[in-house]
Amino acid sequence: MTKGSQVYLVGAGPGDPGLLTLKGRAAIERADALVYDRLVSPRLLGYARPDCELVYVGKTPDHHTLPQREINALLVEKALAGNVVVRLKGGDPFVFGRGGEEAEELRAHGIPYDVVPGVTSAVAAPAYAGIPVTHRDAASSFTVITGHEHADKSASAIPWEQVARLKGTLVFLMGMDNLGRIAGSLVEHGMDPATPAAVVRYGTWPMQRTVLGTLASIEELVREEGIENPAVIVVGQVAALRERLAWVERKPLFGKTVVVTRARHQASALSSALEERGAQVLEFPAIETVPPTDPRPLGEAVAGIEAYQWVVFTSANGVDAFFAEAASLRLDARCLARAEVAAIGSGTQAALARHGIVQVHVAREFCAEGLVELLAGKVGARDRVLIARAEDARDVLPRELAKLGATVNDVAAYRTRAVAQGADALADALRAGEVDAVTFTSSSTVTNLLACLDGPALLEGVDLYSIGPVTTETLREAGLEPRAQAAEYTIAGLVAALVDSQGGEPR
Ligand code: SAH
Repeated sequence: MTKGSQVYLVGAGPGDPGLLTLKGRAAIERADALVYDRLVSPRLLGYARPDCELVYVGKTPDHHTLPQREINALLVEKALAGNVVVRLKGGDPFVFGRGGEEAEELRAHGIPYDVVPGVTSAVAAPAYAGIPVTHRDAASSFTVITGHEHADKSASAIPWEQVARLKGTLVFLMGMDNLGRIAGSLVEHGMDPATPAAVVRYGTWPMQRTVLGTLASIEELVREEGIENPAVIVVGQVAALRERLAWVERKPLFGKTVVVTRARHQASALSSALEERGAQVLEFPAIETVPPTDPRPLGEAVAGIEAYQWVVFTSANGVDAFFAEAASLRLDARCLARAEVAAIGSGTQAALARHGIVQVHVAREFCAEGLVELLAGKVGARDRVLIARAEDARDVLPRELAKLGATVNDVAAYRTRAVAQGADALADALRAGEVDAVTFTSSSTVTNLLACLDGPALLEGVDLYSIGPVTTETLREAGLEPRAQAAEYTIAGLVAALVDSQGGEPR
């Protein structure tokens, strides 16, 4: 066996990426190969190194799953090649996860393995539905049972006699195809048909749905609501506590599907703020940030930075591009030691702080006019001003600063361009009426989304949210009126605008 072979059998948790354990995350970060299932949040794959090999072994759309023995063989093969292998499984690896079989196979080959338990859906899905699996007054035990029957259906895998006599909570996994039979068998073996029963689909995911009924009614209710796999079935008095304890559904954006159009590297803060408030987020990075068409002016400006009295940034992207250029010239934050630095917006200010620049003139307004106002009286007539910002940005800033008498050098630090990837899926979702709101964080997200969608038609009737006046103007030029504009021109302000207008009464 090659040195370094190691397998981690890691529980990914039930879906919400925040429910991965710290130890599980550390294992993913270390992995050379990551073998994962369906029901593992794609977000978790983002913790893997860029060169980590990702191997999907879950169900494909034609419902074909890699047979377990082939998964076992794959783990052995990857490990014996000297890799750190993470086997990432939904929920807990040893709760109906076949982790035991994988561990036996590894042991047989003398491959060392660690088991990293995960938060099991058997407990977490009920919890997110407001159902505690035990409760002082209602249940002093819970039993987790497979709802999967023998393939031939002649014999039951479940000892109904004993199960129906248990006084605590019953949680069935993999039971949806047999829901009627499960409820029926429990009643047949003596349970009260009025016993509360709940089904939680996609527990802890943004698309979580729950149905509450009784053993007598649950099958019918589930059919009416169209609830399918993956779901857990909870039987017992605790299920009814949901009527008082449900909490996910009370979040202001629960049940809303919101599109985030920011560039991928910047989307996560907005996405997680929306998810925190219960929204289901569709990330469609309509733009990506790339070097400017002609990178030379930025290079020259940075190389000659000593000549400037003022350096002005209008976005975090501009800041990052400036310092990337500086780093390539082996310069650090001290290259700005003699200049005054000005910025528009708190995001830009935060980006500067990350690069060690803290003393900054910050314009609160998220647009050029605010900065011009701030700098009037400060920028001297003979000052040289460098503006490092997006290619094709508006003319207002350089024009107004020039009016103050300064010599302005407006250089393109970066350029945004449209990303069409995923456009068809987004168009389908819009057409199907599955999207409640679309957020815009800059004019270029508007322009590029419209380019990807072949115009504004698909956005009519959808609530649009703009981060500020410039973005709103771009929407209006396209004939679209935003439902609301952020009061404060920041990500937090944008989220607040959504909550205010989408929120309404908790359901
Ligand atoms: N090891 C997993 C269970 C794997 S068996 C765990 O510990 O959670 C697969 C079954 O788990 C599904 O059929 C479904 O019953 C249940 N399940 C997994 N994730 C779920 C989720 N997010 N919500 C509801 N049920 C889920």
